[in-house]
Amino acid sequence: MRSLLTWLMFSHLLIAEERYEFERPLMGTLFRIQTHATSRQVAQKAVDAAFAEAEAINEVASDYIADSELLDLSKKPAGQPVAVSPRLFSLIEQARAMAQITDGAFDPTLGPLTKLWRESRRRQQLPSEDVLKLARCASGYQRLNCDRNNSTITLQVSGMRLDLGGIAKGQAADAMLAVFFRHNLQSTSITAGGDVRLGAPPPGQKGWTVGVRTFDRHTDSETLVLSHCAVSTSGDLQQAIEINGTRYAHIIDPQTGLGLTRSVAATVIAPTAAQSDALATACCVLPQQKARELIKTIPGCSFHLPEMRE
Ligand code: AMP
Ligand code: MG
Repeated sequence: MRSLLTWLMFSHLLIAEERYEFERPLMGTLFRIQTHATSRQVAQKAVDAAFAEAEAINEVASDYIADSELLDLSKKPAGQPVAVSPRLFSLIEQARAMAQITDGAFDPTLGPLTKLWRESRRRQQLPSEDVLKLARCASGYQRLNCDRNNSTITLQVSGMRLDLGGIAKGQAADAMLAVFFRHNLQSTSITAGGDVRLGAPPPGQKGWTVGVRTFDRHTDSETLVLSHCAVSTSGDLQQAIEINGTRYAHIIDPQTGLGLTRSVAATVIAPTAAQSDALATACCVLPQQKARELIKTIPGCSFHLPEMRE
């Protein structure tokens, strides 16, 4: 009996785990998963369940899918509590909390302004002062109300539109890692564009090696070895428009309502990818010193900025 128990205790050590990699496009980026499992079939089962979860998040929270629950919410009359699905409620509540923490540098109610940015990109023209003013008046996280008891969301101002683009990839990566944990695959890394969510280190290693991008599109200037946390990089590298000789990043400055015109990049390490994703976006908006100070106040977070051009 004793020898059987000993065998059972150590048998899992005899079955070697291998690293498996998977990729799938989603949310306008490429999701890349690395996981350690005893077979590809075991890994594949978790991968399929994790992507099902990420797709469900995308379906409710995308502001590119015309009939997503998020966009439906923006079409409801202002000031009225709207009952939303538990999934959407939790995404919005988390985004609102990050807006509060960053004092609105990250703000999921900037939807009217991100919509104008996309129109500017299409028309190669900035919005008029009046149009910009109207959009700015319809934004502001203080006027986004989340009622947890009733699972309702209230957009308190007419024309308000939510955009979770600065946090949703992180939220999806968190949800995906939770699926891997439920499948007992702890040594897993999920990369969603500039957002990385890490579980336990690969077997026998100290952690996952994460490259931090800087202004040079082709090189990682710093590598970090990490586990059980998340890393996000935001900046103006990936998407920016140029109008009349000025570059406007896809990150909106809530003060001006337009894309940031400074050259910006920020990498944030945080306990979850929802946090690191939102904070990296916020750190691009804030002046560098303020960004550093903010990150210092949040438990488990650190700020990396190998090169910053202001
Ligand atoms: P990220 O690439 O994570 O920095 O997120 C950028 C995306 O977030 C943009 O494409 C917009 O959809 C949205 N966004 C832009 N500016 C902000 C902001 N100041 N706060 C929150 N979301 C923003
Ligand atoms: Mg972000």
